[in-house]
Amino acid sequence: MGILRSFSKDIGIDLGTANTVIYVSGEGIVLQEPSVVAIDKRDNTAYAVGDEANKMIGRTPGDIIAVRPLRDGVIADFDAAEMMLRAFIQRVKRGIFNPRIAIGIPSGVTGVEWRAVMDAARRAGAREVYPIDEPVAAAIGAGLPVTEATGNMIIDIGGGTTEVAVMSLQGIVLSESVRVAGDELNEAIMNYMKKVHNLVVGERTSEEIKIKIGSAYPTNDDASMEVRGLHLLSGMPRTVTVKASEIRESMAEPLSVIVEAVKRTLERTPPELAADIVDRGIMLAGGGALLNGIDTLISHETGIVTHIAPAPLNCVVMGAGHVLEDYKRLSRVLTNRIRNF
Ligand code: ADP
Ligand code: MG
Repeated sequence: MGILRSFSKDIGIDLGTANTVIYVSGEGIVLQEPSVVAIDKRDNTAYAVGDEANKMIGRTPGDIIAVRPLRDGVIADFDAAEMMLRAFIQRVKRGIFNPRIAIGIPSGVTGVEWRAVMDAARRAGAREVYPIDEPVAAAIGAGLPVTEATGNMIIDIGGGTTEVAVMSLQGIVLSESVRVAGDELNEAIMNYMKKVHNLVVGERTSEEIKIKIGSAYPTNDDASMEVRGLHLLSGMPRTVTVKASEIRESMAEPLSVIVEAVKRTLERTPPELAADIVDRGIMLAGGGALLNGIDTLISHETGIVTHIAPAPLNCVVMGAGHVLEDYKRLSRVLTNRIRNF
């Protein structure tokens, strides 16, 4: 066992709708790239994955397509998801012998899809594969005391989905997943630019606007930014200056969907656990936690102190890694769905 252990490492994977992150025990995070695969349609193989494939979106010739297979939190394109996962695992697996792999994937993914993901990981050389519900992994990675009999609320705002969960004693007591998260915020900005400024901007530009001057609550209202796009009426490139307050308003509707999901979950939470959450506060994870003022918005709307996890983009992968490293203590968190396989 001792010798085997020294060759065998544990791998944690966050198969996110926007980003895939991989952690190797003893090494840390070894890969963090967009969940994108470019497929060569001539022989149905992965032409590129991650950063490289992401640059190809909207720029591929006819026989190559670049896709985000998990975009909305369900596996829209099975083969593509599998190809992407295998390519990522193969890239990090060099020199790692028979790893155990823990994978966190969005909770909207069905049992059949879980099986496909697990099979893909096995075919990529995993000795054992452990599926973990993402909110659970996020809670562990955010450092919440999930093994205690205390209520904890975690909100994971990703690209395609927002997951809200209340946990106690290593289990999810209740949870809700909505398909409104970072992507929808980008879309709201794109629509706003078109409607109000007659400017057509791409998804990358709208994401840049969101990250640079976007906010969920008035924090930086003096900020503004020059945005380049195509003028709708003349069809010519044009530069427009937008203010932070406009961008906040443009995102108000999708943000309210997220807030409502949090409120609904709180309303359904049993009173003892709700009292714990009031005491301990709410924890935010996922890339959406980095939106300016999102913590203030949620705490204003719920009346509960809201914290942003350190390194919110890495919570799920760190949680998945911890489960394997501390398997005796944490194995109860592994999803019940594993029993259905
Ligand atoms: P997933 O788990 O679904 O792959 P992530 O947790 O990786 O998603 O988060 C990706 C989302 O976070 C994207 O929509 C991205 O625009 C958003 N994001 C990343 N950084 C920031 C930031 N600084 N401000 C606002 N949104 C951000
Ligand atoms: Mg995620």
